[in-house]
Amino acid sequence: MKPCPCGYSGHPEVACKCTEIQVSRYRQKISGPLLDRFDLHVEVPAVAINELQRAARSESSAQIASRVNAARQAQLARSGCANQYLQGEPLEQHCQLGEKERQLLERALQRLGLSARAYHRVLRVARTIADLSGSPHIQAAHLLESLSFRALDRRREPLNEMLQAK
Ligand SMILES: [Zn+2]
Repeated sequence: MKPCPCGYSGHPEVACKCTEIQVSRYRQKISGPLLDRFDLHVEVPAVAINELQRAARSESSAQIASRVNAARQAQLARSGCANQYLQGEPLEQHCQLGEKERQLLERALQRLGLSARAYHRVLRVARTIADLSGSPHIQAAHLLESLSFRALDRRREPLNEMLQAK
């Protein structure tokens, strides 16, 4: 979807002509229950073509593929299925959080008003991010990255403000 009715919200060079009300009305056209069904909301900023051409890759596609493969193998070995299929008891069991992480997620739940379904997606995605970085436990950074993929749930408060709050 476009970020706003005119399509230029967040564009580095072209000014958006929409009012705040128009933008929020536009985004609210997607229902919450539908949004809940997406694992990842990703903002894709406009990129100038010369930036694309000189894009320096820190990790090659082959390296990424092998990391993804290893993460997938780790998931199968741990729970017998990919993280996306974890539900109920197995989800609780394989996505256990430390005290600090639990509090962080609880705060996020309250602030963002996440539904139970979105909450479980955040957990599963965080588990996957942890697997991709080879971490046995879900750490705060993994949760934060996972929460950053709920961009469209974050209508009320920017993520960084939430994290600075106690
Ligand atoms: Zn606009």
